Amino acid sequence: MPNILDGKKLAQEIELILKQTIESGLEVAKRPPGLAVLRVGSDPASGVYVNYKEKACARIGVKSFARHLKEDISLEELREIIKSLNEEKNVDGILLQLPLPSHLDEDSLLRTIDPDKDADGLHPLNLGRLIKGEKGPRSCTPAGVMALLNRNQIKLEGKRAVVVGRSILVGKPMALMLQAANATVTVAHSRTKDLPTLTRQADLLVVAAGKPHLIGKNHVSENCVVIDVGIHRLSSGQENLKESKKNKLCGDVKIFEIEDKVAAYSPVPGGVGPMTVTMLLANTVDRWQKHCGLPLSISHLLP
Ligand code: NAP
Repeated sequence: MPNILDGKKLAQEIELILKQTIESGLEVAKRPPGLAVLRVGSDPASGVYVNYKEKACARIGVKSFARHLKEDISLEELREIIKSLNEEKNVDGILLQLPLPSHLDEDSLLRTIDPDKDADGLHPLNLGRLIKGEKGPRSCTPAGVMALLNRNQIKLEGKRAVVVGRSILVGKPMALMLQAANATVTVAHSRTKDLPTLTRQADLLVVAAGKPHLIGKNHVSENCVVIDVGIHRLSSGQENLKESKKNKLCGDVKIFEIEDKVAAYSPVPGGVGPMTVTMLLANTVDRWQKHCGLPLSISHLLP
């Protein structure tokens, strides 16, 4: 097993498969896959993520229907836009970039997305499918973690997994996917007592707490595989959190403390981040195959 779980390289490999899948399906489908990413307002991090997603679409031949909507858009206006995308036959996937401005009800908007075009797997129907172990679009970040583990032949059956974080976006679906892969899963959160004692028992530790450098050497055992989902853009007063001079990002894990101790870890950047974007593309291409009556040839890439 390599010590560094390279999400960037795996994302490139999967993108190539998706590109070839699109090229070979175009003749029958008569149109490329379409993805609509909706960004509301001016949150700078959302701008960066949407930009990555648009570039990734262009690389593999997915047509982007991205919309950048004004900060003060009303709930009704946004619902109407989502409904029109539900009806648009050239759109296979819809993603509402989170977080939304506080006046918009995230839950009701996610429910407005046609579950069949739910590119981020966050519609309650698709979350229910995940609980039941039925096929369906899966949340991109935990799906990307599963692909990274799978590709690096990290066995999960019977292993003790600890997930730090219980959000609907990452922690909860992550725990369900690991459980479906026959790991024994514990979910920790902000009220968990004595986190280091719990996480030291983990064969696999997935950290999605959104707290820079929460996890250090006292939280991990030597045979542990550590997945760092957290991603934080550092401001000028936070140079001490940098992993290296080159990048302005850090995760929820102090990589410099654990890299020589654990069995393997995912870096930030270059670990879970690129995999998230790739699984968004995979969900979209999978939907496109379904909508166009093509064989579902990439569903094995989705957990
Ligand atoms: P979130 O909604 O803020 O959830 C954070 C979770 O962590 C909550 O369940 C919270 O517990 C728990 N938590 C917070 N502090 C903790 C502590 N000290 N000890 C244990 N648990 C703690 O965040 P999210 O959306 O899940 O995202 C988590 C991180 O992943 C963020 O840094 C985000 O930027 C990153 N992320 C990265 C990608 C990617 O592509 N790489 C994608 C999505 C998210 P409570 O429930 O008790 O509040």
